[in-house]
Amino acid sequence: MVKWARKKDGKEIAIVEGYTFYCHYKNRIRERWSCTHGKTCKAFLSMTNSEMVTRRIIRSRQRLDHNHTRPRFVIHNVTWATKKNGKDVAVINGYTFYHRIKHQMTSTWNCTFGRACRARMIVTNGARYQDRHLVSSMLKHTHPPPAFIICDGMYIKTAEVKPESGPLGPN
Ligand SMILES: [Zn+2]
Ligand SMILES: [Zn+2]
Repeated sequence: MVKWARKKDGKEIAIVEGYTFYCHYKNRIRERWSCTHGKTCKAFLSMTNSEMVTRRIIRSRQRLDHNHTRPRFVIHNVTWATKKNGKDVAVINGYTFYHRIKHQMTSTWNCTFGRACRARMIVTNGARYQDRHLVSSMLKHTHPPPAFIICDGMYIKTAEVKPESGPLGPN
């Protein structure tokens, strides 16, 4: 099984068995992905060339014996959703971010908690969710994550779903 992620520079990496691979070479038909460890490790994957991750097929020719331990990395998956007012919200690790400042190439997204929390991230601009890539982030929050659900790409505060439930009532 291959997992996919993107680096800060937007380049894709493939993750197999906890090891990371980058696209080393591609022609019209196939791609060769080499271990990110560098030349001393000979591990590689061979797959069909496709922009679409889901269309890539791993070919039988591959080598997964590494001469080093697994790299340490964390994947921050950003989930995108739309609020009722049409605005986008980004979700990382259960915390929500709103679009605050648009720069030429990137945008700053701040934690929706407000000024008391300084967590934020920089994301490349893109009308489509798949064109937005995390460039950098500061993800230390001063508060617990908000209560919400994402339903069909719509961000819904949990308090709005059941307004009269719970001993504390709506807040
Ligand atoms: Zn390796
Ligand atoms: Zn926060």
